[in-house]
Amino acid sequence: MTATLGTTREIPASAQRGDLKNYIGGEWVAARTDQYLDVPNPATEELLARVPLSGAADVDAAARAARRAFEDWSEVPVPERAAYMFRFREALLDSREELIRLCTTENGKIYSDAAGEVRRGIEVVDFACGMPTLMMGTNLDQISRGIDSELVRFPVGVAAGITPFNFPFMVPLWMYPLAIAAGNTFILKPSERTPLSAVRMAELLAEAGLPKGVFNIVHGAAEAVTELCSHPEIDAVSFVGSARVAKIVYETAARHGKRVQALGGAKNHIIVMPDAVLEPSIENITESAFGNAGQRCLAGSVMTVVGTAADEFLPRFVERADRIKMGFGLDEDVDLGPVIRPDSKERILGYVERGLTDGARMLRDGRDGTPSTGYFVGPTIVEIDPQAEMARDELFGPVLSVLKADDVDGALDLMRATNRYGNAGSIFTSSGKAAREFKRRSSAGMLGVNVGVAAPMAFFPFSGRRNSFFGDLHVTGRDGVEFYTTKKMVTTRWF
Ligand code: NAD
Repeated sequence: MTATLGTTREIPASAQRGDLKNYIGGEWVAARTDQYLDVPNPATEELLARVPLSGAADVDAAARAARRAFEDWSEVPVPERAAYMFRFREALLDSREELIRLCTTENGKIYSDAAGEVRRGIEVVDFACGMPTLMMGTNLDQISRGIDSELVRFPVGVAAGITPFNFPFMVPLWMYPLAIAAGNTFILKPSERTPLSAVRMAELLAEAGLPKGVFNIVHGAAEAVTELCSHPEIDAVSFVGSARVAKIVYETAARHGKRVQALGGAKNHIIVMPDAVLEPSIENITESAFGNAGQRCLAGSVMTVVGTAADEFLPRFVERADRIKMGFGLDEDVDLGPVIRPDSKERILGYVERGLTDGARMLRDGRDGTPSTGYFVGPTIVEIDPQAEMARDELFGPVLSVLKADDVDGALDLMRATNRYGNAGSIFTSSGKAAREFKRRSSAGMLGVNVGVAAPMAFFPFSGRRNSFFGDLHVTGRDGVEFYTTKKMVTTRWF
């Protein structure tokens, strides 16, 4: 997890924007508000931009523009729509280095994490380029005497996407390439804490020749989201963020008759068996717990060491965490960036301090030695008991809580009992039997066997469960195509 490429502190112009505008019907227009939030670089605290908090009038303008554009866009032949995605893909690849730097600057993640995010985002565009195949229907000749049946897919209409701060580039890409290639028009409400990657994506889509109004951006926060969930011109809502807001969005948008997919927070368990292969497991779990400063919905948050792993694996793991270097992700040899805002840092440290008061044992103290500028929390490892608040709640920072179990059954029981989420989980082991038990009995939907960040590629669904997902169809993979298409059944008889 060390930044090995492109390590000069060159911040792209696209990360320094002044007051942001909404992107509606192919034009950059000022939001109808005087309320703006600062967007700082979380590693240096330098101001990058100010983001408007749009309201009902702005959402209404975007929804109407998207609806108008839908009339023509849904008539464009599917291979032509896919051709726009091919051109967009080229534009993204040409701007790759700039996009990585932009992502690092606005989010704080280190260069190599941003490079991974950009690569994973572009993979969804690769997938969307296959829309002529993905959107095909099915038919059955002679389903009855002289009667044929045909299933045909159509776009849903206007789709909205509401996204979190932690993957400003990739998470929007989970949504709009598939939505647009399937013939929908799209309104993105990016995180108000990391709105700059979205602005650049709109510019690149325009460069790819996408017709006006097919992709729109409304900046803002809760008010804009509430409007998107209730606006009559919006047919589908995709949300990614915390479980609390995911549930609000799911309920509100469903109440207004929209189809919804709402991905929530996470509390991911890692099980380390006594037969785990030491070195690669240590590296993988270090990346899982502290990569992206722990601000990943797939981050390992609780590590259960089984049997003798407590004596052999754990001390080596703590030593590895001691070697992690904090800093601005565009600087040389930096392993760990900041968390997104001062209040995130305060919240995370609050959990650690309350945990210690309640009897947790500090194995590595990340409160020490942080840079004086920026919102840094060092890698923190704390041994807790299963009843602790830190075992249940999503911390979303570089903090790993350690539990102990006697065997894989005990570790799986802890995984299920201590948390209400079901996003991801990993086991590190050489035993096929333990891995099989884990696969069958784990309460999470995305599982890693000797893989610490079990992120499905774009061709598969991002399969959270329990409080990590509200809805039926996941983002990406076939589920993503299903979500952004509606079916018609045609039954035909010729007299
Ligand atoms: P968040 O829930 O605070 O914000 C997400 C979006 O919701 C933002 O666009 C924000 O403007 C909007 N929002 C915030 N409060 C709102 C409210 N009261 N009403 C309506 N809209 C509101 O999440 P975040 O802090 O930006 O992102 C981190 C969270 O996202 C973590 O919980 C993380 O686990 C989760 N996440 C989940 C996945 C997944 O795939 N399940 C992926 C990435 C992030």
